[in-house]
Amino acid sequence: MKVCMLASSSKGNCTLIWDDKSAIMIDCGISLKETENRMEILGVDPHSVSAILVTHEHSDHTKGVGMFARKYGTKIYAHADGVDAILEKIGKVNTNLVVEYFSDFAIDNYHIHAFKLPHDSICCVGYTIKENDKQISIMTDLGYTNDDIIKNVFGSRLVILEANYDEKMLRESTKYSFALKNRIGGRFGHLSNKDSADVICKLACAGVKQILLAHLSEENNTPDLCYKSVCDRVASQGVTPGVNIMIDIAKAHDISTLFTLK
Ligand SMILES: [Zn+2]
Ligand SMILES: [Zn+2]
Repeated sequence: MKVCMLASSSKGNCTLIWDDKSAIMIDCGISLKETENRMEILGVDPHSVSAILVTHEHSDHTKGVGMFARKYGTKIYAHADGVDAILEKIGKVNTNLVVEYFSDFAIDNYHIHAFKLPHDSICCVGYTIKENDKQISIMTDLGYTNDDIIKNVFGSRLVILEANYDEKMLRESTKYSFALKNRIGGRFGHLSNKDSADVICKLACAGVKQILLAHLSEENNTPDLCYKSVCDRVASQGVTPGVNIMIDIAKAHDISTLFTLK
């Protein structure tokens, strides 16, 4: 089982999971061309993508979904509570391609658990994807976490976790209105670097060994600042990055580290 993010920031998110037989994509918030180019670098044939699992309707997650699905005949999976909002965003697709789900489901060898996240969209979900004993999770676009949310990703070898903004950068931003700052920092916005570090400590205690920090804001965060502040905060709570847990950061406009789960 291989995992790689093709892009990750507030401007566009796309994650690819694949094995020898088939692939699944989570969100496609970049253009069709960018998606194809990055898949070619990874050696994954777009025709092998069995499904695009969509987390929610925001355009940084849906921009390329319709175009990819129309070109390759890929099925689009969306939670029943959010499917209408997603379909409004992605343009006309053959209704046979759209699969609504209400609870856990399976695609090829992958068992998929979707869980709701607190975010300012009609319905936002995180995913845990399991193939045999290998499990990965993705949890971005959420304003806060609690133990009920976090326990959905326990048992994962890799957790893709949001670290959207640095609190000071957001507070001092001259580009963002007061209302927008409140939205991002609020209960239905995004996780800060500090929030993310606190989640990582809980995950490390539960045995998770690898984190990929994702969905960084390009306005209110930088990869260096994010990495340093997350590592410093987890270290201050007794979790040593590089020893107890590995922490990596996804790239905004390029493929991330490629993770192979054996
Ligand atoms: Zn969102
Ligand atoms: Zn987003």
